[in-house]
Amino acid sequence: MRTKRRKILSALLFSFLLTGFGLAQAQTIRVITTTPDLADITKQIGKELVDVESLTRGVEFMHAVPVKPSFVPKLNRANILAAMGLDLEISWLPALLEPASNPKIMPGQAGHIDCSTGVSVIDVPKSLDRAEGDVHPKGNPHYNLDPHNGKVMARNIADGLARNFPQHKAVFEKNLAAYVAELDKAIVRWQQMAAPLKGAKFVAYHSDWAYFAQRFGLQQVGSIEVKPGIEPTPNHLVALAQKMQQDKIPLIIYGPQSDRYPKQLAGQSGAAVVRLQSISGGAAETDSYVKFIEYNLKSLLSALKKS
Ligand SMILES: [Zn+2]
Repeated sequence: MRTKRRKILSALLFSFLLTGFGLAQAQTIRVITTTPDLADITKQIGKELVDVESLTRGVEFMHAVPVKPSFVPKLNRANILAAMGLDLEISWLPALLEPASNPKIMPGQAGHIDCSTGVSVIDVPKSLDRAEGDVHPKGNPHYNLDPHNGKVMARNIADGLARNFPQHKAVFEKNLAAYVAELDKAIVRWQQMAAPLKGAKFVAYHSDWAYFAQRFGLQQVGSIEVKPGIEPTPNHLVALAQKMQQDKIPLIIYGPQSDRYPKQLAGQSGAAVVRLQSISGGAAETDSYVKFIEYNLKSLLSALKKS
């Protein structure tokens, strides 16, 4: 009798576990993000309710991410897609979304989170000149480098998750509040750390440092690119080297690009060269959004000391 009852109990327990497991699986929200920053922030907001994957790893130049067929099924299965927007992903994401045939994550649909919503966009061109090759036709899309925009990204992600899964809204809001508090605390520390950077002039390879410079008081005086996305001409480099010598510009910042032009300019002008990360995830010390901002600040401070 006792054995029989035990058998029934174990059968019940087994089927309960199966159902419970099935439910848990069914309820996990599948989120695909375009960058590791957005993946990290989504994890902070969704915790165990989400299964998150970024399409890029942080080592790519975001304007030229290779279109991989393996991305298509991931997008097809996603409940939600979180993207930077402002055309940052224009050269590769639309080409993946079409074959992914997942209407709910298309731009403008409920499952598509445009994380640039609410960002004060800088460098908005007066006229649209994508025809000339400018890859920032809607203004500068590298807003993730200002940690205050990290809070905007987190808010957009929390709103997007709640829009699609309103039953978990309270959890998302609670996790958002905790993450924003963590960022606020870090921002106070970063502002103090960045004091020596105030007024520092720099030349950047690409214009990805505009928001960072605005937040921490640095001043960009030129770009290696002729305009965003357009490689330099010899004349442009000669003029830039002269300007750097005359104005004693101490720093050249570059990212995933080749170090050829930065090193060449450094040789001519005596400036220090520093390689920074414009998206998290490119190195172990930048595997979260908070660590990535910290890494860039520390790298800049140590480069400025050497210059
Ligand atoms: Zn750019």
